[in-house]
Amino acid sequence: MDIATTATAVLSGDRRALAQAITLVESGRADHRAQALALLATLQTSGRQALRIGLSGTPGVGKSTFIEAFGLMLTGSGLRVAVLAVDPSSARSGGSILGDKTRMERLSRDPRAFIRPSPAQTQLGGVARRSREAVALCEAAGFDVVLIETVGVGQSETVVAEISDLFVLLLAPAGGDELQGVKRGIMEMADLILVNKADGELKPAALRTVADYAGALQLLRRRPQDPADFPKAMPVSALTGLCLAEAWDQMQTLATWRRQQGHWASRRAAQARHWFEEEVRRGLLAALIADPARTTLARLGSSVAKGDLTPEAAAAEMLRLMGRG
Ligand code: GDP
Repeated sequence: MDIATTATAVLSGDRRALAQAITLVESGRADHRAQALALLATLQTSGRQALRIGLSGTPGVGKSTFIEAFGLMLTGSGLRVAVLAVDPSSARSGGSILGDKTRMERLSRDPRAFIRPSPAQTQLGGVARRSREAVALCEAAGFDVVLIETVGVGQSETVVAEISDLFVLLLAPAGGDELQGVKRGIMEMADLILVNKADGELKPAALRTVADYAGALQLLRRRPQDPADFPKAMPVSALTGLCLAEAWDQMQTLATWRRQQGHWASRRAAQARHWFEEEVRRGLLAALIADPARTTLARLGSSVAKGDLTPEAAAAEMLRLMGRG
């Protein structure tokens, strides 16, 4: 692949080139990695920024339906929308989410949209890196909004929060008066809780669920980086389109506020620092399991097991040897 040509094509918004570039950053091959780094470095100079929206929800809450309706609303208003999925493949039956592509059929045919399913067979760490880089590629390709979708399986929300500007939690109407088992940590990450399926028979339950979550959100610590009425909960219906425009308004309000207050830039800066440290950590771990470090590790491990060295002394020795290269 010629990096300069690919970079030019991505910058011109060419979706085929974008897809190829994402395939490149997903590759595990060392020579591909070098090309991917060169491409990302070239594209970073574009200075383009999309609104990155993380979207999480358990299977069945209506993520695909929501993304299709919400995405079409945005493309209908002239915006370009990219959709990426962030999931360890084990979280999905069948590995990849090709199924989503057919479910978001109209959106995937929209010339202003780009949908990328998550690759099969990836570890969460690998997914995180790939997703972050894919987001950067979509930004360089001039997309206005990048939706980063994840199944609510706990860990992946944290990853999504680390690569998005806003985090939206999609919930279904709760049965009875019980709150769904949403972990506090995930609630704390949410900027906007959307209770989907606020239509037909489910509408009263959806409105009750919104009220319950609005109450629960008020109990959380106020965030200095947000206007006083955020985070908030509201009803939507992906099926009828109810409140989709209002939800978009809320997202823009929050994004504008954060830009004006400087929180947007500082969040992105903190994320960049986080990913830098994460890459160093990954690199060090990779070096640890490759020879000659692995041999040394095994040797020192045996000494520790036999009681010839304390774990601390052996660890210090290992680090000293690695530092020496
Ligand atoms: P996902 O697993 O989160 O991607 O959920 P889907 O988008 O596949 O939706 C799961 C089911 O919920 C499907 O049968 C949808 O038709 C239904 N659904 C999605 N959104 C709505 C909605 O707003 N209202 C109603 N009544 N059903 C919905």
